[in-house]
Amino acid sequence: MSGSIVLRGGTVLTLDDARRVLPGEDVLVDGDRIAAIGPALEVPAGTTEIDATGGIVMPGMIDTHRHLWQTAMRGYGADWTLTQYFVWYYLEWGKVFRPEDIHAGNLLGAWEALEAGVTTTVDWSHGLQTTGHADAAADALEAVPGRFVLAYGNIQDAPANWTATREFRDFVSRRTGGDRGLEGFQLAFDVTGDPAFPEKPAFEVARELGVPVTTHAGVWGATGDDGIRLMYDHGFMTPETVYVHGASLSADSYHRIAATGGSVSVSTESEQSAGQGYPPTWALRKYGIPVSLSMDTSVWWSGDLFSAMRATLGADRSREHLEAHAKGETVTHAALRAEQVVEWATRGGAAALGRSDIGSLEVGKKADVVLLKNDDSPASFPLLNPYGHVVFQAQRGDVHTVLVGGRVVKRDGKLVGADLPAVRRRVEETVGHLRAQLGEEAWRQGMNPDVPAAKILDNPYTYTDYQSDRTHGG
Ligand SMILES: [Zn+2]
Repeated sequence: MSGSIVLRGGTVLTLDDARRVLPGEDVLVDGDRIAAIGPALEVPAGTTEIDATGGIVMPGMIDTHRHLWQTAMRGYGADWTLTQYFVWYYLEWGKVFRPEDIHAGNLLGAWEALEAGVTTTVDWSHGLQTTGHADAAADALEAVPGRFVLAYGNIQDAPANWTATREFRDFVSRRTGGDRGLEGFQLAFDVTGDPAFPEKPAFEVARELGVPVTTHAGVWGATGDDGIRLMYDHGFMTPETVYVHGASLSADSYHRIAATGGSVSVSTESEQSAGQGYPPTWALRKYGIPVSLSMDTSVWWSGDLFSAMRATLGADRSREHLEAHAKGETVTHAALRAEQVVEWATRGGAAALGRSDIGSLEVGKKADVVLLKNDDSPASFPLLNPYGHVVFQAQRGDVHTVLVGGRVVKRDGKLVGADLPAVRRRVEETVGHLRAQLGEEAWRQGMNPDVPAAKILDNPYTYTDYQSDRTHGG
């Protein structure tokens, strides 16, 4: 279905510069763009009408960091720490994933994102051991009608190595740029802080290709202030750089991020559960660093940003109360508001990706539109505080309709054009392969893996022996 579509009579959260909230107005979509917003719009003959009364119409959400390939392992690591994740994926089992396994996880995760109203996702794809894996990842993203940015990475090899191969260059020229299917391309690797700066050649490749770097920075036990300082001293901190997590950093590092114009992708549920550091929005607000939200991985968490918004607001307020109580004080007015986290889930993601054409509902912008409406749910009314409703009342089951560039990808609560039985077969085949590779005992034990005595607590990267004393009781 394409052509013109009108969503009638919803409460429209524009997320425009004035943050207008428009109760009972219509949103008209023509082709891939928003054509008009207003009350009782006159529309061209043949326009598809969608009843949005009682619902909320908002911009499609944007997830700036998601390891889609891991979706085939949904829920497996629910009780992991970050250390156990590193053992399982980086050291032991990440290498047994074949191209078809990357493809299966990406397909499942990409449809899952759309179903939850996440219209743009950065696929932080760090399981690309070969360009065959990368082609499989890109094929899956192009087969799903959302916006997907491929952030290319490979945890099995040094960034300086995989970015230097002829095959990698060939992939970039074949699959990225122009009007090809991917919405964008980034390089995804971490900076250990090793003073020899082994990641420097990979930054130079990114600079030469003119693509952003996204990097897990401020991750307890893996990446910290040393990595930020190296990036800064070599001029690799740029406005398009996305720092994932950004927890466990010093004031100096936050100043460097703020001064160079980068942004932080906050994965609150991940930081709370895995242990990268306290979810850092309280610090990022202080230093004026732009924020976007992300879900990280379905090995633990679900790929929807309702959970991210809710967890982020809760974590920020929790810290604010805790710090006040430690000083014998009482917080009477919360600093972080529901409106702000909805903004981070929409506009914040667009800004992080350098996209001025998505992230808000305004005439002329791309028609990435989400309708939240669930007349069967007692939680859908009364609708008194729209931002508060999105953050604390709504959930993915309330996503009624989703448009990406004017194309209907979900309608009446059902995905359009998704062959989920076929996706399920691919995922089951991947799970079968992994279970066979691990053996049943290792498979069972993998949900709570042992940690080797050495190496893993220094850092999870096999290309350097660098270790910081900071996370060793120093
Ligand atoms: Zn991550």
